[in-house]
Amino acid sequence: MKQNMKHSVDQGFATRAVHAGRGDFAKLGVHAPPLDLSSTYPTPDLDAAARSFDSLVSGDAPEGSFVYQRLFNPTTDRYERALAELEGAEDAAAFGSGMAAFSAVLLASKSRGWHVVAVRPMYGTADHLLSSGLLGMEVTWAEQDEIREAIRPDTALVAIETPANPTLELVDIASVVRQAGAVPVLVDSTFATPVLQRPLDHGAALVLHSATKFLGGHGDVLAGVVAGSHALIRDIKHVRAATGGLLHPFSSYLLHRGLQTLELRVERAQATAIMLARRLAADPRIGSVRFPGLAGQDPRSLIGRQMSGPGSVLSFELASDDPAVMRAFVGALELITPAVSLGSADTLIQPPAMLTHRVVDAGAREQTGITRGLLRLSAGLEDASDLWADLDQALQRAEARWEGQSWEEDQRELTVLGSETKALTAGS
Ligand code: PLP
Repeated sequence: MKQNMKHSVDQGFATRAVHAGRGDFAKLGVHAPPLDLSSTYPTPDLDAAARSFDSLVSGDAPEGSFVYQRLFNPTTDRYERALAELEGAEDAAAFGSGMAAFSAVLLASKSRGWHVVAVRPMYGTADHLLSSGLLGMEVTWAEQDEIREAIRPDTALVAIETPANPTLELVDIASVVRQAGAVPVLVDSTFATPVLQRPLDHGAALVLHSATKFLGGHGDVLAGVVAGSHALIRDIKHVRAATGGLLHPFSSYLLHRGLQTLELRVERAQATAIMLARRLAADPRIGSVRFPGLAGQDPRSLIGRQMSGPGSVLSFELASDDPAVMRAFVGALELITPAVSLGSADTLIQPPAMLTHRVVDAGAREQTGITRGLLRLSAGLEDASDLWADLDQALQRAEARWEGQSWEEDQRELTVLGSETKALTAGS
């Protein structure tokens, strides 16, 4: 029988992604990850069960019975091991969404203090969670070169996202880590995946993903995962046991399965994004393109040093400032799906100011370049030429609407919603 233990950290990413988290398969005599849906587990030995319960609620490994699914699930545990291995981490914790993972990181940080330093832009709801103080923490927004000045004695965490959603700025992880000193740095690496970037190699304490995106890859899983040292993940698992965010085993199964094709998917989508970004940048119907793979858009030379490629998400503005043209363009797309989220097999497009970043303070949106005409595109796995043909025909049809209204005159102003409802209405 094939020994799945044979793979090692010295092997290539693709080899490890195919075999990670499968070390017990030979013993179990299985070829695909077993899907254990039990919500509870028999505990005939009550004293042993009580010991296991204690260890699980503290975030440790089970001692015997798994007791209860909110505390531990073997299918989810296998996926966590696999992801930890690919990120070069000691351990990982999987959650029912990326936001649940981020919330648990914040709650677990509170033992160190109530202050967070963060860099904008970042995913809209993550920005909102920090700025609204919903979890009781205070945030200081800082530029990536001003982290040192923003740190206080009660700073518990520095949170960054790179590449940043939706403007694709790259943040220099090693520089932020140096400035943060003893304060742990959390990197949301959703846009990069471990195929393109491993934040822990650059000194970050924790790496977080909305696994809903590239890790899932097929638009059918909502999940989050955070990886780091045993000590930090133990605290995060303790919060998870108490607040109940454990990822459902079926989603874990799908994510574990998806790791086997992750590198292929990420590289294919990236090649397509490079082609589309170049064509858009050269097209007179386009006003601007943000993509770290374009000349001049990686001022810190992080591609090659921190990230092995620019990824497959790009943002652009049409040359026309007429909101009707942008709406006509999105409405005219036939192949590309207008939808929030990213990292799916199909190409997705959405206007962040109107949807995913609607919950962000308007001034902050403006300052970070999230204009109302900005469109974020996540390249999928279709043939690149078909995607370009779709963009081209939609641009042609939208051109017929080139009438000259500006966003300032747009009647459909972004409404300011109550802060409680904002977080609930934001897509990803
Ligand atoms: N981080 C980033 C960079 C995201 O783009 C998203 C969602 O789009 C999240 C976190 C939140 O993830 P989820 O929607 O899985 O809660």
